[in-house]
Parts: sequence; structure tokens; C-alpha cells
Amino acid sequence: MDDKKLYSPKVMKDILDKYGFRFSKSLGQNFLIDGNIINKIAETAELDENSGVIEIGPGFGTLTQVLCQKAKKVVAIEVDRSLEKVHHETLDYDNIKIIYEDFMKIDVDKLIKEEFQGLDVKIVANLPYYITTPIIMKILEERYKISRIVVMVQKEVAQRLNSKPGSKEYGAITLAVNYRADTEIAMIVPSSVFMPRPKVDSAVIRFDILKKPRIEVLDENILFAAIKASFGQRRKTLLNGLSNNLKLSKDVVKTALEQAGIDPGVRGETLSLEDFGRIADEIVKTNK
Ligand code: SAM
Repeated sequence: MDDKKLYSPKVMKDILDKYGFRFSKSLGQNFLIDGNIINKIAETAELDENSGVIEIGPGFGTLTQVLCQKAKKVVAIEVDRSLEKVHHETLDYDNIKIIYEDFMKIDVDKLIKEEFQGLDVKIVANLPYYITTPIIMKILEERYKISRIVVMVQKEVAQRLNSKPGSKEYGAITLAVNYRADTEIAMIVPSSVFMPRPKVDSAVIRFDILKKPRIEVLDENILFAAIKASFGQRRKTLLNGLSNNLKLSKDVVKTALEQAGIDPGVRGETLSLEDFGRIADEIVKTNK
């Protein structure tokens, strides 16, 4: 296949029509039509001969083509089997494997071991918006051996993932991300570069996975439970949120917060990851 080939929106549409493809809104199918944006995503991933790429949702395959040209190997996971015929035409590369399956059901650890021996593995995707957060949480919680994630998401989601304590975008997912990765918004992307056009703008966000989590805690499950408990009920104080959701007595939580040097009356969204680390450790110690 010609490396320089880039399909115009008209040609894309003709190919999709030829195979009777219909865009599915519920699968978040908004395909990229701008070569500059596609190249910028691939550049942000910094791919070379040692790179293995997992792409979630290749769609028509425009981004996938560039990934195949730059990386050693690409495994693309697409839930919509009706794109298979399109892929025979658009993704005729020797270094690609396409799996027609829901990404949420994939054993990614196994896939990495089987497909990417000795390669530096990165996840690159223009994510379907209806399932962005579960996909990102799966990747972060299951701790795959990957070095980087580069994904296009809704602009507001990117801002939340990249936000600071106390800001209005800050949430439990910000902390989960912060625990495992450094993040940077690589670019804001207007809705005009998609077919069909979504209602909102997007952003490409890069996660560099840390070699070990940013903080060390006695029990990671308690850390995540404490974070979720504190954000579950935004208007409640930390004391109430933690004791209700973790099913702990107020006395235990109060003692733990005092030991951690945190005011029981504050709201969870003002606390940093390090604060939550201290709280989680004191809960473990107090509850022994
Ligand atoms: N990568 C293409 C591009 O940039 O033009 C398509 C991106 S489109 C926003 C999202 C793609 O993810 C669609 O092809 C959709 O069918 C696929 N998809 C949706 N849910 C999925 C899932 N659970 N697992 C794998 N792929 C999924």
C-alpha cells in the first residue's frame, strides 16, 4: 500500500457506502478526516521500530494507517464487525492484527504477552465518547506493561483528567490518573475534523505511565475506596462521606483524619493525592 495515501472525506464516504456501512451513534462513530490531526496524534505517541501499538476502535482506519506506517506492530480492536470489509480495503498491512471484539472484554495483559514480545507498547485511540471513562479506568487499574497512552476524548473530559485539586473539573478519576501517570493535553481539536461532526470539541491527551505509582500506600484498595467515597457525595464533608461509604464508625474516621492532619470538615475535592494517601494509611492503621 502507498504510504502517502490519505483518503479525502468524499472517497471515505464512497468506500463506506460501497460496503453498506451505516454510522452508529451509539458506538460513538465519529471518524477523523483531517490528516494533520492524525499525524499529530501519531507524533504525540512517538512511535518507532521498537513500538507496539494497541488501537481501540480503528473505525474506517485513517489513524490506523499512520500507526501501521510508524510502528513495528499494531493490534486494533474494533467492536463493529460491519467494518471488516472496509478494513480489507483500507488496512492492507503486514504488521496489523484486527480483533473484532469489545475492548472492555479483552484480556490486554495476555494480548501484550502474545503479540508484543520485546516491544515498547503504547495505546493510541480516538476513543468512542460513550465509554471513555470506563476504558481509561480499565487501562489504569489493570496496570498493563505500557509506557504511554495517547487518546482523543471530549475536551471537558481531557480537562478533568488533567485538572488540579480544588478546581471544578477535579474528580475521583483525576486522582486515579495522577496516581499512575503524568498527563498533558497535546492539543484541542475542533468538531469540524470529524465525519459526522460531534456536538462538542475534543482534545488529545497524553499519559506517560510512571514506573511505579506516584505515592506509596499500605493498601491500594483503601486508597481508591477513600477517593471514591469522598467524591461520591460532593456536598457532604469528608467525615460523612468516608464513614457512610466505607462503613466505618465516625470515631474511626475522625481519628484517622486527625492522625493524617486533615480537617474532617473539608470537602474531598480540595485534597491532593498525597492527602488521600495519608488518610488511607491512617484508616488502615486505626482500623486494625
Ligand atoms: N479511529 C477511528 C478514527 O479516528 O477515525 C474511529 C474513531 S470513533 C470515535 C470510535 C471507534 O470505536 C468506532 O469505530 C467504534 O465502532 C469503536 N468502538 C466503539 N465501542 C467500542 C468498544 N467497546 N471496543 C472497541 N471499539 C469500539
